[in-house]
Amino acid sequence: MIVPDIIIAIDGFSSTGKSSFAKLMAKELGFLYLDSGALYRGVTLFAQEEGFINKENEISPALEAALEGLDLWFATDNRTFIGERCIEKEIRSMEVSSQVSPIATVPYIRRFVDAKLHELAKGGRVIMDGRDIGTTVFPNAEIKIFMTADPDVRAQRRYDELVMKGENPNLDEVKENLRQRDYIDSHRETSPLSRAKDAFILDNSNMTISEEVAWVKGLIKGKFNIYDD
Ligand code: C5P
Repeated sequence: MIVPDIIIAIDGFSSTGKSSFAKLMAKELGFLYLDSGALYRGVTLFAQEEGFINKENEISPALEAALEGLDLWFATDNRTFIGERCIEKEIRSMEVSSQVSPIATVPYIRRFVDAKLHELAKGGRVIMDGRDIGTTVFPNAEIKIFMTADPDVRAQRRYDELVMKGENPNLDEVKENLRQRDYIDSHRETSPLSRAKDAFILDNSNMTISEEVAWVKGLIKGKFNIYDD
């Protein structure tokens, strides 16, 4: 399927499968995939390791200046790095998950991430996932999808993912973390999680990933009058 140089924005609640879906779509369309959540997670790990955030989620104002020296980037295989260190495993841990949403409420941190996303998306042909991509970061994205799924289905998916990664999660804790992140993400002052008016809703509680891909391909074909495969 030949698609024009567009931006596809995928937003939605935590653990709705946004990144697996966006990664697969990117592969199918030959697009660049950008995981905005990984940048918030990278900043969180940095803040934790450098002592800019404490257990009570209090964030030192010194973090703002320190971000100037933070070399956070993606390799071509989508892995996230700080300098030469791959931080992919650490940023997916429960420890980072438990503090990422408070970190993502801070306006200067959102500006830091947004600037990186704009820089990386310069050439178009990008599919990006997050919470505010279609509303704030790329309000002119040509295709916007808002993903949602039943909370129990989401918690089980996240639990399975953590087990696969060798962690030893507790299902109730995972569920509570998702609930808290959804709440903080939807209620924060700066660019809260919300559906853009022109976003299509994708509820994937009972869908396979290939059904999701086929559905979005149908949307793209309809919008751009594409008749090939
Ligand atoms: O997508 P992921 O679950 O990895 O994102 C981690 C956290 O980063 C979210 O719970 C949210 O607090 C924050 N985030 C955000 N805006 C985005 C992407 C992620 O606030 N565009």
